Amino acid sequence: MADRDNNEDKFKRNLMLLIASIIAVFVLCVACFFGYKMYLEGKEKEVAYTELITDLNESKIEKIKMTAGSASIKVTYKGEEKEEERTKTVLVPSLQAFMELVQEKVDKEGLKIDLKQEPINPVLRTTDTLFSMLPTILLVVLMLMIFKMQGLGGDNNGKVYGGEENKKTGVKFEDVAGLDEEKGELIEIVDFLKNPKSYLDMGAKIPRGILLYGKPGTGKTLIAKAIAGEAGVPFISMSGSEFIEMFAGLGASRVRKLFEKAKKMAPCIIFIDEIDAIGSRRTSSSGAESENNQTLNQLLVEMDGFASNETIIVLAATNRPEMLDKALLRPGRFDRQVTIPTPDLNGREAILKLHCKDKKIDPEVDFRSLAGDTAGFTGAELANVLNEAAIIATRINHEAITREDIENAIKKITVGLEKHNRVVSEKDKKLTAYHEAGHAVVSKFLPTQTDVKEVSIIPRGLAGGYTMYKTNEDKFYISRTELLEKMVALMGGRAAEKISLNEISTGASNDIEVATGIARDMLTVYGMSDVLGQISLKVDEPYELQMYGENIFNEVGEQVKVLIDKAYVTAQQILIEHRELLDKVALTLLEKETISEEEFNTFFE
Ligand code: ADP
Ligand code: ZN
Repeated sequence: MADRDNNEDKFKRNLMLLIASIIAVFVLCVACFFGYKMYLEGKEKEVAYTELITDLNESKIEKIKMTAGSASIKVTYKGEEKEEERTKTVLVPSLQAFMELVQEKVDKEGLKIDLKQEPINPVLRTTDTLFSMLPTILLVVLMLMIFKMQGLGGDNNGKVYGGEENKKTGVKFEDVAGLDEEKGELIEIVDFLKNPKSYLDMGAKIPRGILLYGKPGTGKTLIAKAIAGEAGVPFISMSGSEFIEMFAGLGASRVRKLFEKAKKMAPCIIFIDEIDAIGSRRTSSSGAESENNQTLNQLLVEMDGFASNETIIVLAATNRPEMLDKALLRPGRFDRQVTIPTPDLNGREAILKLHCKDKKIDPEVDFRSLAGDTAGFTGAELANVLNEAAIIATRINHEAITREDIENAIKKITVGLEKHNRVVSEKDKKLTAYHEAGHAVVSKFLPTQTDVKEVSIIPRGLAGGYTMYKTNEDKFYISRTELLEKMVALMGGRAAEKISLNEISTGASNDIEVATGIARDMLTVYGMSDVLGQISLKVDEPYELQMYGENIFNEVGEQVKVLIDKAYVTAQQILIEHRELLDKVALTLLEKETISEEEFNTFFE
C-alpha cells in the first residue's frame, strides 16, 4: 500500500516537474522574443553621436529633450511627419561638451532645448522596470516550485509509520528471528522510550544515537521497526541517499525538517538507512562533497541540539562503518554501536522457520539441515529462498513446499536458473564436463576444501555448468592454507581443459577472476605474503598508497602471479596423477548431466 502511494506521489511529482519545465522554457522563449524586438526597435530609432553633430551643424534639428543626469537624450528632427516619428535617441559621451556645442545653436538659430530637472515619472519608471523584470520573476517562481516539488517543502521528510492514530509499526521483537543478543542489547531502548521519566528522574541520560552495523539484508531495518513497535512509538524513516540532492543546501534542510517533525512526535524513533551516504568522512573539496558536508554538519547540529526531555532516539544503519566520519561517533551522538551479524546456524534455522509460518510447508522439511546448506545467507536472502520455493511449488502443482523445492530455490538464487532449453553443442558439453570434473576431482584431494555436493553440466544462469560444494560449517577465520587450496580448486577447471583436451576456453574466466581476487587480498589485506610481509595496503584515499613507495606495486603484481601460477601447477599435478578419475567423472557427466554427492564419492572408494 505504502509503496503504491509512494509511486503515485513520485509520478505526480515527475509530471509537475515536466509541466513546470515546459512552462519555464516557454517563458524564456517569449522573453527572448520580446527582448530582441525591443532591441531592434531601439536600434532603429538610435542615432550615433557623430551623426547628431553633423545634423546639428546642418541645422536639421528642431528640438532637444534632456533629462538631468542622463546621458541619453531625445532629439526631434525637422520635418512634416508626426513628432514621434522624427524623434530619435542619442547617447552622449560628454554632456558638458555637448551643452557647449548646443548653446551656440540656441543663441544663433533659436534651437529649442527642453531640459527636465526631475527624472521621468517615478511610477512609470517602476512599472517599466517591473515589466522588464517579469520574465526573471516568473523564472524564479518556477524554480521555487521545482524546489518544492523536489521535496524541500512539506511532506517528503521521512515516512512515518505509526503516529498518534496508529501507534504501531506492526513489527515486534518476535518477528525478528535469531539475533537474541542484539535484541537483548536493544531492549533497554524500548524501556527508555516507554518510561523516559523514570530514567530522567534517576539522572540517567537517554542515549541519542545507535548505529547498527551489518550487511544489507541482515535485518537492521526490521529490528529498528521492532523497537518502535515494542515501545509503541512512531517510526520515522529516511534513507541517507535521499538526503543527497543536486541542489545545494537541500540535504541540510531535509535533515532539519526531519528532526522538526520528530520533535513534534516525540517520543519516537528516527531511522536513517545507509547513513554512510551522508556520514562519510568530511573532505575539504568543493561541489557535491561540500554539499555532503553541509548535510552531515546539520545532522551533527540536530543530534547535539535536542533537549534531554525530548525522547527521540536516532537509529542509523550502515554496512560500511569504516567510512563514517569520526565526529558522528562522539558521545552524545551515535555513541552506541550494535553489530548485526549474518545469521549463524541457529539464526538461519530460526529465520527459515519464521518465514515458513505463513506458507504451506511439507512437515518432512528439515530446517536444521537447510540451515546447514545456507551458510553465509542473510535474513533477506533466506526469506527470498522460501518465497522462490513457494513459487516453484505452485508452478509444479505441489501440495506444499517440499525440501526439493527449497533446494531448487537455493540453486536458483546461488547459481541461477536451469537453462534446459539452451542448445549446447557436443563440443561445448565435453569441455564443460571436463571443466567441472576438474574442479570436483581437484577439490577432493585438497584437505581444507569442503565436500562436493553436486556436479552438473546443465547450464544455469550464465554458467555452462557448476560444481556445488557443501557448506556445513560457519567459519569465522580462514587459514592461509585454505585460501591457497581454494585457489587450486578454482584452477582445477582450466587445468582439466588443458590436460584432457589440450585447449583452454573462456569458461574459466570467473574462476580466474575469483582466484586473482583471493591472491590480491592475501597480499594486500591479510598480510599473508612472505615477500611483502604483514602489510595492509587497504587505504581510504589513493594518495596514501604513495607512502609505500612504487616498488611495492611491482611486488604485489609479481606475487599475485606467483600465487596463481603455483595454484595452476598444483591443480595440473593433481589431475595428471588422477587422470583416470577425471575421465570417469567427465564421461559420467556427459552421460547423466548431473552427479550427486553419493555417486561422486563412489568414484573414490
Ligand atoms: P537491512 O535493513 O539490514 O538491509 P532489512 O531489515 O530490510 O535488512 O531486512 C529485509 C528483510 O529480510 C526483512 O523484511 C525480513 O523479511 C528479512 N529478515 C532479515 N533478517 C531477519 C531476521 N533476523 N528475522 C526475520 N526476518 C529477517
Ligand atoms: Zn569453473
